[in-house]
Amino acid sequence: MNLTHASRHWILAVVGTFILAHAAPLLAKSPEPLVCEVAIVGGGAGGLHTAFRLGPILGSKVCLFEKEEELGGRIHDISYDNDAKDAPRIGVGARRIMETQTVVLDLAAELGLQLETPVVSADLIQARGRTAFGKEDFVSLYPGLPVKQDPSTDTETWLYDQLRHGPERGNAGLYPDFRSYVSAIVGKAGFDYLHDMSRFRADFEYDLDAPSYLDYLDEEWDVCCVASYPVGGMSGFIRGMEERARAAGVRIFKGEAIHGIHRKGQGYQLQSARYKVAANKLVLAVPPSAFPHLRGDVPARIAKQKPFQDIVGVKVATITQWWPYAWWKDIRNPAQPDEKGQVWRAWTTESCVNFIEIPMEASAAVQNVTRSVYDDDQRCVEHWEKLAKHSMKQVEAEIHEGLTQIFHQNGVSLPENVVIPRPLKTHVQIWPAGWHFLRAGATNSNAEIAAWSLEPLPGEPVSLVGEAYFINRSGWSDGAYKSSIQVLNRHYGLQLKGQ
Ligand SMILES: Cc1cc2nc3c(=O)[nH]c(=O)nc-3n(C[C@H](O)[C@H](O)[C@H](O)COP(=O)(O)OP(=O)(O)OC[C@H]3O[C@@H](n4cnc5c(N)ncnc54)[C@H](O)[C@@H]3O)c2cc1C
Repeated sequence: MNLTHASRHWILAVVGTFILAHAAPLLAKSPEPLVCEVAIVGGGAGGLHTAFRLGPILGSKVCLFEKEEELGGRIHDISYDNDAKDAPRIGVGARRIMETQTVVLDLAAELGLQLETPVVSADLIQARGRTAFGKEDFVSLYPGLPVKQDPSTDTETWLYDQLRHGPERGNAGLYPDFRSYVSAIVGKAGFDYLHDMSRFRADFEYDLDAPSYLDYLDEEWDVCCVASYPVGGMSGFIRGMEERARAAGVRIFKGEAIHGIHRKGQGYQLQSARYKVAANKLVLAVPPSAFPHLRGDVPARIAKQKPFQDIVGVKVATITQWWPYAWWKDIRNPAQPDEKGQVWRAWTTESCVNFIEIPMEASAAVQNVTRSVYDDDQRCVEHWEKLAKHSMKQVEAEIHEGLTQIFHQNGVSLPENVVIPRPLKTHVQIWPAGWHFLRAGATNSNAEIAAWSLEPLPGEPVSLVGEAYFINRSGWSDGAYKSSIQVLNRHYGLQLKGQ
């Protein structure tokens, strides 16, 4: 056979490609061995806090593995121009700390974070075709609502008091779920009123365990008063803890998802793409939604337990928008002439926009940015997720309609005419498990779940850390910190405040 130069070249290229393709798996680097005293899986607030506290006593014996390129998990700040270094940022997850959250405030002081406490202004609410500034203005729209018997308090607080302190509280476990408990205590009208006045709807729409939710409510009711915002966003906590953990010698691996965890001898073996890790102790600082992606006997033995199965994640959407100018800055409650009259939050049952937050803290306000949608209503979250995959233009058009419905000619706020421009940029964030509760039929209390998470495999040095395992502080980063603190105090001999 007489082959031309070109065809010989071609055959060599094909044979070469074939050999390379088939030999590649053999040539791929096998995972590097790594030895750690404590392996922490997950670099959100809970996992990173654990590493940061262990750093001074164990240094490089602590390894932390985070699947994303950035630490922080549900603490995630983004900027208008992602490529611009040091550009101002805004949170698409956690944003603020309340006055009573001393664990987080103490941590902020320890890390030297600067906090802003803006004057919080007016809330605008829309339900049953009415728009008003106060929840009392809606009472007449709910015929059959129990008449409050305490003139010193408002209707919403009074209804919650009936749920929390009424004689049936002790029997809450006999009701199939929180919804039926609420309807039994304050009637259908009371249920509808509480649902519509709340900014968060999942609490009334998911099948939640009544005693667990009431225990959470007791603590949630104390979350109060002045809200603080870290300058530069909540990721200041993450940067501060990361810097100190690294300085203490902690080995932090980003972009390194753990795929499998096995018991091996007296210790554990973890696998990631690059490493085969041997560890004596484990801290699993990932929420339950991460478990289906973890192979091995350790996650399997935890996931089959009832306390684990009782935890339910609430799906949440936040949609952040940057604008050419602050079209909202003149919207106010005419009854409040001072700066407190400015509208900073609005919520509605009339559209999937649901809850709008307008940053008042200077470092965020200068960005002309709003959280235009904040939603945990199951159907709406699914809707935003689908729409965002299909067309961002439609997402923007629907938000435009929702915002117009709330702010334009609503009959109460001034100016009457509010024209909403086109946003410069829209970011849709779906949190598959934004926060956690216990599902109806749970057999453990919140306190029992927290105790179980300290040692879910009895006698083994494995702990679960995170907000998901500290239901009384559901939806707040102090849940993650408190969960971490209880593990550090119990298993690592620390004596931290704030458990
Ligand atoms: C929309 C929203 C608003 C909120 N607002 C506030 C607020 O204003 N104030 C406040 O205090 N709190 C707020 N929170 C709650 C707070 O953000 C969380 O409670 C807290 O950040 C949870 O931390 P965590 O460590 O428990 O979990 P996560 O943050 O979920 O961390 C888990 C980490 O594990 C990583 N991971 C998962 N699988 C693997 C794997 N296989 N290998 C390695 N790593 C893995 C994840 O990538 C993630 O980084 C808000 C939450 C949401 C969703």
